[in-house]
Amino acid sequence: MNYEYDVAIVGGGAAGLAAALAAADQGAKTLILEKNASLGGVLNQCIHNGFGLRYFKEDLTGPEYAARFIEQIEKKSVDIITQATVSNVSKDKILTVINPVKGEFQVKAKAVVLCAGCKEKLDDLEKSLGQSSLPQGIYTLMQAQRLINAEYKKLGQKAVIFGSDNLALILARQMTYEGALVQCVCEKEPCAKGLKSNIARCLDDYGIPLYVNTAITKLRGKDKLEGVYIAPLDGKKRPVAAQEKFVECDTLLFSSQFVPDSDLAVKLKLKMDRITLGPVVDETKQTSVEGIFATGSFLHIHDLADDVSFEAQTAGKYAALYAQGQYRADDKKIRVIAGGGIIYAVPQIINGGDKKAVVCFRTEQRHRNKRFNVFCGEDIIFAKRYPVLLPCRLEQAEINLKGIEGDLVLSLEESE
Ligand SMILES: Cc1cc2nc3c(=O)[nH]c(=O)nc-3n(C[C@H](O)[C@H](O)[C@H](O)COP(=O)(O)OP(=O)(O)OC[C@H]3O[C@@H](n4cnc5c(N)ncnc54)[C@H](O)[C@@H]3O)c2cc1C
Repeated sequence: MNYEYDVAIVGGGAAGLAAALAAADQGAKTLILEKNASLGGVLNQCIHNGFGLRYFKEDLTGPEYAARFIEQIEKKSVDIITQATVSNVSKDKILTVINPVKGEFQVKAKAVVLCAGCKEKLDDLEKSLGQSSLPQGIYTLMQAQRLINAEYKKLGQKAVIFGSDNLALILARQMTYEGALVQCVCEKEPCAKGLKSNIARCLDDYGIPLYVNTAITKLRGKDKLEGVYIAPLDGKKRPVAAQEKFVECDTLLFSSQFVPDSDLAVKLKLKMDRITLGPVVDETKQTSVEGIFATGSFLHIHDLADDVSFEAQTAGKYAALYAQGQYRADDKKIRVIAGGGIIYAVPQIINGGDKKAVVCFRTEQRHRNKRFNVFCGEDIIFAKRYPVLLPCRLEQAEINLKGIEGDLVLSLEESE
């Protein structure tokens, strides 16, 4: 074996950095394996501010947020190997790693934290546009953000953005800063997916029109994109041909679904959640394989880096405790089940009772004036009224499990 560690962390983004710091704080000999040349992950391409408001109580850019963690990590006993792609993790915690200088090598760890982030479901792109091939000028949001902010590329002169999540809104503003004319943002749903504050700050302030209930029906341009046809959708979600119009553009940014990059989890045969598409975990973020933990957008898609850091701290801490023989999961398991109106909950399992556990959940759609209930059998053991619930906002509830024996069911009901 080339290397032996208490805790090996796969991925050095927001999750890997926070997990490493927490593991090192417990005195664990910790290694971060990062496939890129530098640490930070997605944070490096988010040059706008809004990071760290909860974690550092400061308004930082993504790279500044990453730098805060890297500074702290450099003071701890954390080893870092960059350009190190983990190609396999075995159940007995042997990691196979490929690096251009060291070649292939293996790391034996007592515990592993999987923090390999997420990917975009690219098959959406051609399917949604009904095209078998695409001309030049079409980018997914994550790709566009990386090209503009991390590789300093100029994408085009006139842009259309399809999708209205927060990243799409931020990129509409970013393209404007880059000197492009953003013709419009189109959303096929009846309302924008991003926060109202981002619509105001990223679209309204720059006079960028937002067309909801609108589809891109076809593209013009064989080799290079020349424009898109857009049309409003009728009640049955069909484009109204009579109202179709042409919008000239050389750049189309396309929002596709983010999903955990689950390759390593699948190879490990971890138990997976069919909604989050990440591993099933308990409240320590331990997966179905003992000593293997998962966190960050590898576990489920997060909206805020600060949430990732808090969650990853838990994973790092318990990975260290596991490695030091100070933590083993309880045999008594409480299942956390997403009920009416809730699309998913993480963790999906809580060990034993008599403690407080934080459960994250996401709603399927936008809601006003709902009561969030946690049932154990017929009893409501936690309730909270929410004036607004948004699918783009991950919510959290700290639930007291003292004396709780049965499974928990999370659901929404009308609130007076
Ligand atoms: C495009 C995008 C924009 C976002 N914008 C914001 C925002 O504006 N504000 C906000 O608060 N939050 C934002 N978020 C949410 C939040 O910042 C991210 O969820 C968070 O930074 C993700 O951290 P992570 O460590 O889980 O994943 P990542 O940052 O993706 O890190 C994963 C790391 O793992 C590495 N890796 C992957 N596979 C391997 C492997 N096999 N071997 C070794 N290394 C590997 C990758 O290179 C990467 O560095 C955004 C998320 C995305 C995806």
